[in-house]
Amino acid sequence: MGFRDVDRHTFYAGKPQPSAESSGSYETIDPSNGKPVCKINNSSTKSVDAAIQSAQAAFPAWSSTPPIERARILQKAVALLREHNDALARVETLDTGKPFSETSTVDIVTGADVLEYFANLVASGGLNGESFRLRPTASVYTAKEPLGVCAGIGAWNYPIQIALWKSAPCLSAGNCMVYKPSEFTPLHAEYLADIYKKAGLPDGVFNVVYGAADVGGHLTKHPAIAKVSFTGQVSTGKKVAGAAAGEMKYVTMELGGKSPLIVLPDAQVEQAVDVAMMANFFSTGQVCTNGTRVFVPRAMKKDFEAVLLEKVKFVRAGDLFDMDTNFGPLSSKAHYEKVVQYVRHGIETDKATLLCGGPGQPSGLSAELKQGYWVQPTVFTDCTDDMKIVREEIFGPVMTVLTYDTVDEAVERANKTELGLAAGVVGRDIDLCHGVIAKLEAGITWINTWGESPAEMAVGGWKKSGVGVENGRRGLEAWVRNKSTLVEMGGSVPTVFSKL
Ligand code: NDP
Repeated sequence: MGFRDVDRHTFYAGKPQPSAESSGSYETIDPSNGKPVCKINNSSTKSVDAAIQSAQAAFPAWSSTPPIERARILQKAVALLREHNDALARVETLDTGKPFSETSTVDIVTGADVLEYFANLVASGGLNGESFRLRPTASVYTAKEPLGVCAGIGAWNYPIQIALWKSAPCLSAGNCMVYKPSEFTPLHAEYLADIYKKAGLPDGVFNVVYGAADVGGHLTKHPAIAKVSFTGQVSTGKKVAGAAAGEMKYVTMELGGKSPLIVLPDAQVEQAVDVAMMANFFSTGQVCTNGTRVFVPRAMKKDFEAVLLEKVKFVRAGDLFDMDTNFGPLSSKAHYEKVVQYVRHGIETDKATLLCGGPGQPSGLSAELKQGYWVQPTVFTDCTDDMKIVREEIFGPVMTVLTYDTVDEAVERANKTELGLAAGVVGRDIDLCHGVIAKLEAGITWINTWGESPAEMAVGGWKKSGVGVENGRRGLEAWVRNKSTLVEMGGSVPTVFSKL
């Protein structure tokens, strides 16, 4: 499998479907150098409807296929994903601007793991209901039934991983999916559809539509869609959840964050800096769970900043296919402009102290790469809670350092946000670490590490950061509905309509 520089069309009924009527097209851009990659044809309303119909047609057979047989097909897809790991990683690098050192070791790997996990889970009874005797003459049994045709709508930061985190539990549970990737990073979708097909997935079970908000909006409101699983910004999530609520659809919302990392007074400075770097600069800061508000004890501030300044030198921007490169550009021009604006705001309006970085490009880029959307890893210090750069999600490599005097004060300030996606602590007193974690208002938390999100671990945001979870056993429950049956065996029906 190599990268195919061919136009992309709506994928349904098992193949790409060029449409007679045009709904416009655009070129995807390689963010490392600003050059076009290939043409994407937006799906027309008619094409989206056809994709939904294709999923509806496939649903009866797929939902009644025994879980162990569905799992067998999905396991073949897992093997194909792993076989083509590097080719798929190259596509993700081209599309997102993430270094190959990252995409080849994280993005496809973690997507395939989740597919393997859910396939195994349903093959080993994960969809079994329960049964119990209510009284000597009556029993109850329950079944976990698939929902029907579901929509997956993805963000641009982890394209194939998001597509797999949504489609894996969806298809394992017996549903069909119409998936819309972000218009900024759509390349993975047809490869994934191809892999599912090669693995033996029946036509129509996984379909892809392309386009922007209008296509997502049409999917969200469509009466045949039973559930919308959405990953994106809080503001978009509110619109999607609102539209879905109007039709009583199930939703999962994986939204933004502004997560706190609390460095405890007994933390080792080196370890705290390593965690803070991972929580801010991995994927060029374009990770929803990033720990961008770094609370450091006042007494440790000087040491923390000194070590941080040393370690920032290990961030290496450059040729994305050089395995030594560990830092890429931002994923699009529009996003680049947004992040640079925040950095300028931090300097000019918030008047935070710029410890390192700033709005310019990293040094040492070639003339070709200078045309791309590169920013520097940036650290602001002497920050206060009211600053815009501390309050709002920037979604770029911008760390803000805040100092505190007591742990209780740090916890209180960490929780003072409408968002609650992730949080973490670094410290040596493990009792204190657990105690602090217990008080932090967030759905995903880490102690002495940051960012790992294995298939077994359910993840989802609190407060305005989301609704529901993905992954883990609970992640499967989000794709089924319950049916309870009460069986009366005594022969006499409890009734009030008996003869007097
Ligand atoms: P957006 O909210 O801009 O877009 C997400 C998806 O929704 C895109 O496919 C977009 O289409 C589509 N969309 C836009 N408007 C509508 C609408 N009215 N109806 C239906 N669909 C619509 O998010 P970004 O792509 O900018 O992603 C970044 C955000 O995602 C960050 O806030 C980040 O924190 C969050 N995120 C959350 C994660 C989590 O697990 N909690 C994981 C990853 C990211 P298009 O872009 O093509 O116009």
